[in-house]
Amino acid sequence: MPQTNPLLADSELPQFEDFKTEHVIPAMEKLVPEAKNLIDKLCASVAEPGWDNIVVPIDEQDRKLENAWALFGHLNSVRDSAELRQAYQKALAMATEYQTWVGQHQGLFKAYKAISERKDFSRLSRARQESVKKALLAFKLNGIDLPKDKRKKFARLKSELAQLQQKFSEQLLDATQAWTLHITDEKRLAGLPETARETLSQYASQKNLDGWLVTLEMPSTVPLLTYADDRSLREEVSRACQTRASDKGPNAGQFDNGPLMTDILEKRQKIAELLGYSNYAQVSLEQKMATSPQAVLAFLNDMAEKVLPQAKREFEELREFAKSELGLEVLEPWDINYASEKLRQARFSISREELRPYFPVNRAVEGLFKTAEKLFSLGFEEVTEFQTYHPDVKLFNVLESGKMIARFYLDLYARAGKRGGAWMDVCRNRMERGNGGTIQLPVAYLTCNFTPPVGDKPSLLTTSELSTLFHEFGHGLQHMLTKIGVKSVAGISGVEWDAVELPSQFLENWCREEEALAFISSHVDSGKALPSELLEKMLAAKNFQSAMTFVRQLEFGIFDFTLHGRSSGFSQADIQNAIDQVRSKVSVVPKYRDNRFQHGFSHIFAGGYAAGYYSYKWAEVLSADAYSRFEEEGVFSPEAAADFRNTVLALGGSKPAAEVFRQYRGRDPRPEALLRHNGITV
Ligand code: ZN
Repeated sequence: MPQTNPLLADSELPQFEDFKTEHVIPAMEKLVPEAKNLIDKLCASVAEPGWDNIVVPIDEQDRKLENAWALFGHLNSVRDSAELRQAYQKALAMATEYQTWVGQHQGLFKAYKAISERKDFSRLSRARQESVKKALLAFKLNGIDLPKDKRKKFARLKSELAQLQQKFSEQLLDATQAWTLHITDEKRLAGLPETARETLSQYASQKNLDGWLVTLEMPSTVPLLTYADDRSLREEVSRACQTRASDKGPNAGQFDNGPLMTDILEKRQKIAELLGYSNYAQVSLEQKMATSPQAVLAFLNDMAEKVLPQAKREFEELREFAKSELGLEVLEPWDINYASEKLRQARFSISREELRPYFPVNRAVEGLFKTAEKLFSLGFEEVTEFQTYHPDVKLFNVLESGKMIARFYLDLYARAGKRGGAWMDVCRNRMERGNGGTIQLPVAYLTCNFTPPVGDKPSLLTTSELSTLFHEFGHGLQHMLTKIGVKSVAGISGVEWDAVELPSQFLENWCREEEALAFISSHVDSGKALPSELLEKMLAAKNFQSAMTFVRQLEFGIFDFTLHGRSSGFSQADIQNAIDQVRSKVSVVPKYRDNRFQHGFSHIFAGGYAAGYYSYKWAEVLSADAYSRFEEEGVFSPEAAADFRNTVLALGGSKPAAEVFRQYRGRDPRPEALLRHNGITV
């Protein structure tokens, strides 16, 4: 009988047009039990566990699940509907339950351990060894190696921690929504651009109010603090914002995250101790490129020492400007963004609109392909016949030496039912198939939300949208150009978190190089490339106050690592002390005494950036240093490009990122290039 559920068809590409929402649950109800039965059966029957009799059949089975997910999971992000969302939520619960089940499977853990202890383990390929090691580490961090009573305790701590983190987010959201400011006198909005006024008036009409409603959502606070001439208004908003979910400010004590922060840190510490570590930072670093808490703190402190002098100069310049030009005798916390914007306008009179006509989207995409062609000798071939989910979507084959090695979907424009932002997602992982060595080619989804073309006018990109396009394509190249055939360490899979942004940020550099802009940019009317004086202005504007921004990121990173790198001292006073101390060392802008920024720092208290916030800067060092080889050897240096292609882009997670970087650069990463690119002189 022919297979009618496209989620169960073993197809090279997702069969979008055959898909209906009612396929989701039956597919999951078939695939998840099949996967569980297979694991149980293998663990009970295989006497001598090895790569071929354990990993291969499980990878084959998981492949079916992943490929099904690649269809409806993607649709859930780009073509949302109430029915699909409902099915997706149910499927997500089933998939999560399956993953937890696998992570706690004693038999499977023992099988992997047996594989790693075999005499011939070292004869497996590096990728296979690495994937077994990574699996064992994941088991270990899941507490599977613990004696039974401790395992129970571990599971309880994990679930309590998850609840506390969830509560932290919920209270932050509640606190954000609890504060509003109703404005009926338009004079108070002086200075605000039209778009911001519209947003505020929309907020008001959603609540059946006339006039404007200021909220603590970003589309309200950012323009207000940046543009509002009314100083008392800025102060009011700033205070509400910086005391959210705390014991201070307009809703003091109502949604106080303070006690939760202490509980969260204590639970993490207990989890770390159960697993045999002395603090939570060590747990976090097990799956990252950075090797020790000392190394991370040394890195952040070294950066701070280098950047701080310039940050102080930038602040001094701002202070003087505010005093002489804006009549602000003392620069208060709520004046910083406002005065900075005025200074930026005075120094760099370059508007986004001035640059936009140089970047019609089709030309930018062609320029992107040409960049990749020149660097990595790739070819791109548009496919005209394929099953799609929207007429805007394009499919391309990626060719190397005339041979197809990968494919990707390009979905450029914003539309209703599509999640915002831009991202690269895996559609198919590269994988050597168990059934005789055929290769499943990697397939990527590249999704953006650019303004769609109107009539026959092409969509014009801002320079930040252009960077986004290159950024996501950089992730895509690592996914598509991998030469690894073990799916858990191929492409972006298995790459340490603090190294994942290397290829994406790396590729962004080409849209700031004159030699590349010659074919990336093309004025929509005249066809001319971006003139060099505009490029210079654009680069100078990009680095405005870069040292001040830099030290702010360091402040967050050091605070995060100070808290998670200790084994006690988690009281609210300790936490406040920690951030005060960090600020006294690396912050250059004034903060008011009641500032409770940490109560809204969900990256580390609610989310996955706990003892990981430094990753942003860490990855920037890697990408800037990787690119600096092209500054030394030429923007399109064939040698540098070939080396990058054969290391970072080819090896994926099959080797530790530090080793891959050394292989490419011939040495460890250095921060000089990042500082230089930010216009920071040491
Ligand atoms: Zn990224």
